[in-house]
Amino acid sequence: MPENTWRVVDTGLRSAAENMALDEVILRAVAENKAPNTIRFLRFSKPCVLVGYHQDVEQEVRLDYCLSKGIEINRRITGGGAIYFHPLHLGWEVIAKWTNPFPKSIEKLYEYICRPVVSALRQLGLNAKFRPKNDIEINGRKISGTGGTNYGGSFLFQGTLLTDLDIREMLKCLRIPVKKLSDKEVESLKERVTTLKWELGYVPDLNELKKLIVEEMCKHFNIEVWEGELTEYEEKLLEEKLPYFKSEQWIYLIKVPKKGIFHASIKVPGGLIRAAVSVREKVIQYTYMTGDFFAFPRNLIYEIESRLKHIPLNYSEITETVAKLFEEANAVIPGVKPEDIAKVVYEAASKVHLIDLGFTEDEANQIIEVLKPAEYTLARANYLLLPYCAKPLECSLRYSEDCVKCGLCDFAEIYDVAEKLGFKPMTITSYEHLEETLTKLKEAGEKAWIGSCCEAFYEKHFEDFKRIGLPGLIVTTEGFTCYDLSQEHLAYQGKYEGVSKLRTNLIIKTLKISASIKARKK
Ligand code: SF4
Ligand code: SF4
Repeated sequence: MPENTWRVVDTGLRSAAENMALDEVILRAVAENKAPNTIRFLRFSKPCVLVGYHQDVEQEVRLDYCLSKGIEINRRITGGGAIYFHPLHLGWEVIAKWTNPFPKSIEKLYEYICRPVVSALRQLGLNAKFRPKNDIEINGRKISGTGGTNYGGSFLFQGTLLTDLDIREMLKCLRIPVKKLSDKEVESLKERVTTLKWELGYVPDLNELKKLIVEEMCKHFNIEVWEGELTEYEEKLLEEKLPYFKSEQWIYLIKVPKKGIFHASIKVPGGLIRAAVSVREKVIQYTYMTGDFFAFPRNLIYEIESRLKHIPLNYSEITETVAKLFEEANAVIPGVKPEDIAKVVYEAASKVHLIDLGFTEDEANQIIEVLKPAEYTLARANYLLLPYCAKPLECSLRYSEDCVKCGLCDFAEIYDVAEKLGFKPMTITSYEHLEETLTKLKEAGEKAWIGSCCEAFYEKHFEDFKRIGLPGLIVTTEGFTCYDLSQEHLAYQGKYEGVSKLRTNLIIKTLKISASIKARKK
C-alpha cells in the first residue's frame, strides 16, 4: 500500500488495558509492515487513570480512591504525566513510518502533528493554538495533551480531547504535584484546563469532530484515507499482549522503594523529574528516575539508572556520565537537559550527609534544607517556627504566635521541649507573618531558623525564601495540605480551616541535635 494512503480506524469503547495494548500492537504492526500508516480514534468504556511510561503509580495516583470507585488504572507506552480519562473523552492517534513529511526533530514533530487538530478545533470556532512543547490550548487553557514514542523506524503520537470534565473527580484520582501547579503560575487546576463543553456550551457530535480531524490530517499530511479495521495480525497480537497489559507487572512496572532511599525532584520545561537514590559510603548504589517526561529512546531511563550504579557521589562525575550516555544513544528528552538529570540525582544523593548528623534515610526525606546545609543551620538556629494550620480548629490561639500548652495538641510538647532546649518557639499565622518574622530575625542578627510547613509551601515559595536570604531547616508536615484542598488563597491570608499534622518526633529530634551541636561548639 502506498505510504500516502492511510487507514482510519476507530477502535471504539474499550478497557484501559485493551487501549494501552493496542498502542503497542498497532505501532509494531506499522513498523513491521503488517499494517498501513494509521489514524486511530479511541475511547474508554469506564473512567480510568493512565500513568506515563516513566511514572510510579503510587506516586501519581490516589490508589485507594480509584480502587474503591472501580476506576481502572493502567500505564501508557508513551511518557508524560498521569491523566484521567472518561468515556466521553476522545483519544486520537497517528501511527506512521517516521519518514517524510514528518520532521525528525521530536519538538518539531509534536507541532507538526498537532497542527491539523488545532485546525479542526478552529473550524468549530475555537481559538485553538499549539503550545510548546506538546499541548493544544484554547485561550491559554489546555484542551489536549499529547505525546509519543517510537519503535523500529515508526512512531506513535497520541492526544486526548477533553469533551467535558469533572475536575473534583479528577483531583480525587490523581496526586497532582504542586510543583506543576506553581510552574504555570496559576492558583488552581481549573484555570489550566478547558473542555469543549466549557468553550462551546455543548459537547459536539464526536463523529463530526473525528471527521474534521481526519480531513485536516489529510490536508496537512498530504494523504488519502480509507476507513478500516484492525488487521488479523493486529487482532492476534492483541490477544497475545492483552494479559500482560492487564497484569500488575505492567501496571506497576516502575515501583520506587519506600525505605532506605533518598528522594528529590526538579521541575524543568520538559516536566517533573523525580530521583530516588540509594547511597552507601559516598557511592551511588542504585537510582530510580521517574516523571512525566518523554524519553527517546524509551529505554533511555533504564540505561541512565544502570550507568549511575556504583559511581562516586560527585556532581561532575554524575554529569559527565549522563551527558556521555545522551551522546552515545543520540538521546532526546524534550525540555530536559542531561545536567537537569544530574542535578536531581545529586540533590537526592546528597541527603546522605544528614545520616552523619543522626537522621535516618526516611527522616532525611522529610527534611528540607533552605539555602545552607543542615550542619550550618543546626549549629546556629535559635527560633522554631510552626504553622498555625497544625493547631486544632478549637484552639483559641490557633491564629496567634503563642501556645499556653493546654495539652490538647502536640504544640504543648514541642513548645515545652523547645523552650527547655533554649529555642524560642512561635506560630506563624500567615504568609506575610512568615516574611515579616524572617526579615526581623535577619535584621536582629539571627543566622538561621528551624521550622515546619508542608513541602508544597516550600516549593511554591522557594524564590521568596531565597530573596529573604535567611537559611533554615524545614521538617515537612504530614497529611492533606491547603493546596490539595485548593484553599491556598485562604491559607495565605491565615484563614485556612484545615488541619495538617506535625512530625512531632522528628521536630523534637531536630531540636535536640541542634542543641547538642551548639553545646559542643561552646
Ligand atoms: S496545646 Fe497549644 S496549640 Fe494546642 S490547643 Fe493547647 S494552646 Fe492550642
Ligand atoms: S501552605 Fe497550607 S498546609 Fe502548608 S503549611 Fe501553610 S497553611 Fe499549612
